[in-house]
Amino acid sequence: MIADLPATLPAAEPLVDRYGRAISYLRVSVTDRCDFRCVYCMAEDMVFLPKAEVLSLEEIDVLASAFIRRGTRRIRLTGGEPLVRRGIIDLVRSLGRHLKTGALDELTLTSNGSQMARHAQSLFDAGVRRVNISLDTLDAEKFARITRWGRLGQVLEGIAAATAAGLKVKLNTVALAHENADEIEALMQFAAAGGHDLTLIETMPLGEINEDRMDQYLPLSRVRRDLAQRYTLTDLPHRTGGPARYVHVAELGLQLGFITPLTHNFCESCNRVRLTATGQLYMCLGQDDQADLRSVLRRANMGGDLNGNMAGSQAALDAALDEAIARKPKGHDFVIDRRGAQPAVARHMSLTGG
Ligand code: SAM
Ligand code: SF4
Repeated sequence: MIADLPATLPAAEPLVDRYGRAISYLRVSVTDRCDFRCVYCMAEDMVFLPKAEVLSLEEIDVLASAFIRRGTRRIRLTGGEPLVRRGIIDLVRSLGRHLKTGALDELTLTSNGSQMARHAQSLFDAGVRRVNISLDTLDAEKFARITRWGRLGQVLEGIAAATAAGLKVKLNTVALAHENADEIEALMQFAAAGGHDLTLIETMPLGEINEDRMDQYLPLSRVRRDLAQRYTLTDLPHRTGGPARYVHVAELGLQLGFITPLTHNFCESCNRVRLTATGQLYMCLGQDDQADLRSVLRRANMGGDLNGNMAGSQAALDAALDEAIARKPKGHDFVIDRRGAQPAVARHMSLTGG
C-alpha cells in the first residue's frame, strides 16, 4: 500500500515554458518491463533496469502530485506495460484522490491489454474512465510475430473486460508496412463494431531494436490518402495538445486518429512532458535533454515522507520543475534516415513511455 499522502494540494504557480505553453499533461512510465517484446519497441533480449533505480510507487505519487499542484490536469500511466508493475492499482487508487478533489481532470493508462481482464474493474473503481489498448492486428499468428511473446486472445479478452467494466477503450495501432498495411480497414471495422476509437501511429525511431526501421515505416499520409478514396473522412477540430489528428469516418461512425510524430505539426501546441520509470523528466519525446527528478527527490528524502520537512522538500522539487520546464525545447528533430537503422533517440519507448 502507498502511505497516506495529503489529499488536498496547496495552490502554486502553474508551469509555463519559455514559449508560453502551459504544461498540463504528464505521462508517467511506471516500469520499463513488459510481458511482450514488440518488434518495433524492444529487442528480444532486453536488459531491464535494476529495481533500485526505478522510482517507488510513493515516489511516483509525490512527483505526479507535484505536477498536479503546478497545473497538470491529465495524467497517463504507461511503460513498459503498466499493469505488470506490482502494486499498480494502489498507485492508481492513490492518484485517484486528485480526481475526487477536482485537482485532476483525468487519469488514464496505455496498456497492451494482456492483464486488463483482471484489473479493469479496479481501474474503473479508482476513477479511470478511459484506457488505450494497443492492437496491431486481428490475426493470431501475426500478433504472435509482432509481439513475440503475446497472445491475441488474451488482449481481446482484455478489451472486452475493459468495455464491460465501463471503460472507454481507444485502440492504438502502429502502422507497419509489411505486417498490417492490408489490415487497417479490418481494424477500423473491429473498432467501430465495439464502439472504440482507433488511432494509427507511425513508427518512431526510438532505441536500438535490431531491425531496419525504414523497412517497417509506413507513412500515414499514404494510408489516409488511400482511405479517403473509399471512405468519407471529415477532419475533427479537437486536439489534445499531442501529435494526434482526428477524422470522423462517416460510413463506420468511427473516430480515427493519426499520430505522425515525424512531422513537426504539433510542437507549437505541445502541453506535455514525460517522466521515466527512473525519474528522468523528458521535456520532449524527440530530444535527449532531461532533468533528473529522482535525485532531487531522494536528496530531499521526499519519497513517501511528505509530512516531514514538507516546505523545504517541496521548494526543492518546485525549483527543479521550474528549471526543467524552462529547458523545454521549441520542437523535436525526428528523422528516419535512409539506412533507417540509427535511432534518432537512444532510449527505448518502453523507458520514456509511449
Ligand atoms: N505496453 C503498453 C502498450 O503497448 O500499449 C504501453 C507502452 S507502449 C511503449 C505505448 C505505445 O507506444 C504503444 O501503442 C506502442 O505500440 C507504441 N510504440 C512502441 N514503440 C514504438 C515505436 N518505435 N514507434 C511508434 N510507436 C511505438
Ligand atoms: Fe511492451 Fe508496449 Fe513495448 Fe509492446 S509496445 S513491447 S507491449 S511496452
